[in-house]
Amino acid sequence: MASNWVGELIYEGKAKRVYRVNDELLIMEFKDEVTAFDGARKERAPGKGRLAAAQTVFLMRLLSKYGIRNHLVDWDGDRKILVRGLRMIPIEVIVRNYAYGSFLKRMPLVKPMTRFSKPLVEFHLKSDELHDPLITTDDIIEAGLTRQEQLNEIMGIALRINEILSNYMVSRGLTLVDFKLEFGFDKSGNLVLADEMSGDTMRILINGRHLDKELFRRGASALDVVRAYEEMNRLLGIS
Ligand code: C5P
Repeated sequence: MASNWVGELIYEGKAKRVYRVNDELLIMEFKDEVTAFDGARKERAPGKGRLAAAQTVFLMRLLSKYGIRNHLVDWDGDRKILVRGLRMIPIEVIVRNYAYGSFLKRMPLVKPMTRFSKPLVEFHLKSDELHDPLITTDDIIEAGLTRQEQLNEIMGIALRINEILSNYMVSRGLTLVDFKLEFGFDKSGNLVLADEMSGDTMRILINGRHLDKELFRRGASALDVVRAYEEMNRLLGIS
């Protein structure tokens, strides 16, 4: 189903384009492309845009049922979603259940895939130039990005999202290793979950096998990624 939403292109990232519809609404368009290593590896991936949009829609709707406020308004059934425009906080919030990825690079004393005693929440500054460095909560406050209470609220929401998603994944035989979230403020100053939730932003395993973009980071083809996303959607019950 094609949408008749129209907007002006205001941003083009590695995996998405963003169009401004009006003061309230944006369109996020998921590209049929897969990239890794800050865009250094990039391939066409026909079908991926719709699969990632479907994952985002499904997971945001699931979270809405549990009262997690998020930016999703509508989906065109294809590669575009309609979202609320927010004042974005330029940080990436990462939740980790198992030791993997950049955690292992900075903390090699922990064995890969060790389950943490409790989920870890960490913050990275969104900056391609600096490669999204890990930052402290004090850094965030001192830079004026959020107030301490807002940061506490973000941590609480991130952990709640982890609980909801982990439980859902377990019920489907999947393991949620880690994921990335982004937040913004709406006009009333409420914190709202934004951006995407897909195989590009989370690590999900089935019997130790990746169903996410890690495949591409490890050298698999774009077609393998599309097949993995199809499998993820089947297993998650996404049409
Ligand atoms: O690479 P790292 O271990 O820090 O990634 C943790 C999680 O955050 C992974 O699920 C990864 O897909 C996601 N992530 C992301 N965007 C980034 C960095 C990480 O979606 N820029």
